[in-house]
Amino acid sequence: MGRCTLEMTPEFDVAIVGGGPAGCAAGIVLAHAGRRVVILERSTYSTARVGETLPPDVRLLLQRLGVWSRFCGGGHAPTPGVAAAWGQTEPYTNDFIVNPYGPGWRIDRMRFDDMLATAAAEAGAVVCRRTKVRRCYREASGGWRLGASRDGQPLRPLSSAFLIDATGRTPTLWRHLGARRIVHDRLVGLVRFMAPASAVDSPDLRALVEATEHGWWYSAWLPDRRLVVALHTDAVPGLRAQWLTHLASAPHTSARTAGMRPEQLRVLPANSQLRRPIGTRTWLAVGDAAAAHDPITGLGVYWALKSGIAAGDALATPTSDRASEIEAYAQAVHEQFELYLTQRAIYYQAEQRWPDSPFWKCRHADPPRPLPAAQPPASRLQAGC
Ligand SMILES: Cc1cc2nc3c(=O)[nH]c(=O)nc-3n(C[C@H](O)[C@H](O)[C@H](O)COP(=O)(O)OP(=O)(O)OC[C@H]3O[C@@H](n4cnc5c(N)ncnc54)[C@H](O)[C@@H]3O)c2cc1C
Repeated sequence: MGRCTLEMTPEFDVAIVGGGPAGCAAGIVLAHAGRRVVILERSTYSTARVGETLPPDVRLLLQRLGVWSRFCGGGHAPTPGVAAAWGQTEPYTNDFIVNPYGPGWRIDRMRFDDMLATAAAEAGAVVCRRTKVRRCYREASGGWRLGASRDGQPLRPLSSAFLIDATGRTPTLWRHLGARRIVHDRLVGLVRFMAPASAVDSPDLRALVEATEHGWWYSAWLPDRRLVVALHTDAVPGLRAQWLTHLASAPHTSARTAGMRPEQLRVLPANSQLRRPIGTRTWLAVGDAAAAHDPITGLGVYWALKSGIAAGDALATPTSDRASEIEAYAQAVHEQFELYLTQRAIYYQAEQRWPDSPFWKCRHADPPRPLPAAQPPASRLQAGC
């Protein structure tokens, strides 16, 4: 079991910053390939995480990582499909009943991420929780030196020949790595968990998506019987205060939330963005840190696992072949993102009820255009696409 003993073994083949699904997937693959790998994760997986509906074919990725039976025993719950009031007032359903991989899943994200980190440690990766990477810089030898802290106290720097950035959507390490991001919109998710005040009779266990004039709502029942409810709209000032007003314009979602006790409201970036470059000879990015997607496409965790596995495979090859493997990986990320932009446009084109709404208008633009490079981060943008 790869315990976090940085004090004794501070030299690694690969250091992975971020222990979400992407970082853990890469760590498991590399540990299985016999690489000395460390995963540095700032949290202890004990606070709420979003991203809880998984498609049926995630099973293939979990089997590849050797965690499928552990996942099945992990308290996650199946979901029969999705209901969508999209392009029309009444919801239609898209069920997984004929899917060869079975149902989709409603997962407890804290438990899911924790399970992956534990699997990585059991595979031989050194997994350091509560460890925040604050800076990384190139050594004269060509490798990396990482400065991290635990509980605010600096740790002894560690060295690594290669670095994987798996820190997610927020660009924490990009400055150190000389990367930039191409941002396609300013979507945010206003997310709230809600607990039932009393027992809910036979709720519809499908995830529900509901379009409104200013964006779209998503809600899903979690395995612990709480409901997660999120408004996806463009970042503008004062959004928090408008949550309830916007909810009133989504009748199907409102009906689900009746009698529920709302917990804290969180505003999270949910925009589409691609990183440039995806990697070089000494580092690469995986998951949301490489390419982040609009949650309407349901790609999030699936993509994180898939890209983490692909990156692990690329780096598990002999060093002499590594440059071409990294190039192929980066090319695949670009191609996937182009395909994704087309899919995203098709989803949004299917909703035409509010042609004058700025939210829908900019998503109907053909072809989709990225925001100018000089735009500030999504959270500070004022209005429009
Ligand atoms: C509103 C919303 C709803 C979503 N719903 C879904 C959904 O239903 N289904 C789905 O599949 N996806 C969904 N997603 C997307 C999904 O959450 C992400 O795509 C997925 O979590 C990406 O995984 P990741 O490993 O790339 O990044 P993350 O899960 O963000 O993991 C990054 C990790 O890096 C750690 N970290 C960051 N900086 C540092 C540092 N400096 N040092 C150490 N550790 C660090 C973080 O603590 C975190 O554990 C949703 C996203 C949003 C915003």
